[in-house]
Amino acid sequence: MPEDRQFYLAQLKERLQYYKEMRIDGLSVKTSLDGAFAAAAPMNQEVFRPAPVSDSAVAKRNSSLFELPLNQQPSSESLESIRTDLGDCQRCKLCSGRTNIVFGSGTAEAKLVFVGEGPGADEDAQGLPFVGAAGQLLTKIIEAIQLTRDQVYICNIVKCRPPSNRTPEEDEIAACSPFLFRQIESIRPRVICCLGAVAAQILLETKTAVGKLRGRFHDYRGIQVMPTWHPAYLLRNPAAKRDVWDDVKKIRTLLDEGR
Ligand code: URA
Repeated sequence: MPEDRQFYLAQLKERLQYYKEMRIDGLSVKTSLDGAFAAAAPMNQEVFRPAPVSDSAVAKRNSSLFELPLNQQPSSESLESIRTDLGDCQRCKLCSGRTNIVFGSGTAEAKLVFVGEGPGADEDAQGLPFVGAAGQLLTKIIEAIQLTRDQVYICNIVKCRPPSNRTPEEDEIAACSPFLFRQIESIRPRVICCLGAVAAQILLETKTAVGKLRGRFHDYRGIQVMPTWHPAYLLRNPAAKRDVWDDVKKIRTLLDEGR
């Protein structure tokens, strides 16, 4: 096998592995790529042919991962295209009890993303995250670090309300979290604030308690992650607000450093 072909195949393998990790299980090829492949053997197009996912399901990430011999790298997908791909989602059993899908709210330019667990009754009714009692407290937390809800992005691990606000189950998280991962890749914030154990444990792939994770930054694909107590927990345990204040001050400092 010619050396350069071996090189490209190795790179392709690495990129496909990355898509697998992102749980992107298919790609389509835009016709604009055809020209780029024209000089290569047709087998290259065979590799890319399956297209069960939206054609923009390619996340922006570490560009050193893969230098395709193309004059263009896959571009980042927009939040709108991820929402379109989600559609009238029936991928897990939570769809049967929902009124609205709660995709997320805020700006695609956010430097700070908050990730909660899943919509409650108010969120399900309005189709917006964190609009109930816990949401009002979250608004105060955001404002305490001189930001507004419009300047951040707020979303959840699952996008449909679990019955009786129970914790989302493994299969529901498995079906839904790839969309969250894609939202995060689309926004590429400086910081993610995980609200509560479920968000922290899913993003950080750990079973460690949030009380042990909170208070310091962790890494999620090159993004700083600060786990903290869920606002609903604060409503029951107001003394824990001091911890959250400490945690969000660290976020504020990190954002200020990046200015
Ligand atoms: N709790 C969450 O985790 N998310 C919401 O959107 C609302 C309450």
